[in-house]
Amino acid sequence: MSFASLGLIEPLVRAVAERGYTTPTPIQAQAIPAVLNGGDLMAAAQTGTGKTAGFTLPLLQRLTETPARKKGAIRALVLTPTRELAAQVEESVRLYGAHLPIRSYVMFGGVSINPQIDALRRGVDLLVATPGRLLDHVQQKTLDLSNVEILVLDEADRMLDMGFIRDIRKVLALLPKQRQNLLFSATFSDEIKALADGLLNKPQMIEV
Ligand code: AMP
Repeated sequence: MSFASLGLIEPLVRAVAERGYTTPTPIQAQAIPAVLNGGDLMAAAQTGTGKTAGFTLPLLQRLTETPARKKGAIRALVLTPTRELAAQVEESVRLYGAHLPIRSYVMFGGVSINPQIDALRRGVDLLVATPGRLLDHVQQKTLDLSNVEILVLDEADRMLDMGFIRDIRKVLALLPKQRQNLLFSATFSDEIKALADGLLNKPQMIEV
């Protein structure tokens, strides 16, 4: 099986080839077509399975294939539990999106907020963020989430373990109702299931 046969466009196939990947991992083989279809997804996947490419590749493709509703607006939001993971995910977005005109940005707490405000003003298509700093921007009215088309919760179980559930719910309340939702979690506790129940619409389930 090849990346092209999963329905990915040439600029993405070229980018993964440049990374040296030849074959999609099992989660990629399942997640890429599912996300390209536009439906919601619930995936049980550990780190190391290739889950990051599993959602960033089709995410980049969907942003490329549909026109932005509003110029400069954030169209995709990826929430992660930690700064390290946020930085890693955005790095992947940059690598896989190298041949596409998608602007990505990563932001987290513990660093100055002003450069983040400047970056948001310049326009960001795909934002990777930790929940706390995201809400700081919402409070300061420096961030508009009303045009988000796709939401990804990465390592959702860790976000809940770290006490982010209230922050996540606050973020969800700011998003348009009509959107695509992807939830990735290593484990499926009752708490995750409750979150998924409220968040996902007829999700495709993937387990690897
Ligand atoms: P992840 O589970 O997303 O953190 O990815 C784990 C590692 O696998 C990363 O270093 C990726 O660069 C690498 N990787 C992802 N997909 C593939 C693939 N299809 N073939 C080879 N390596 C991959």
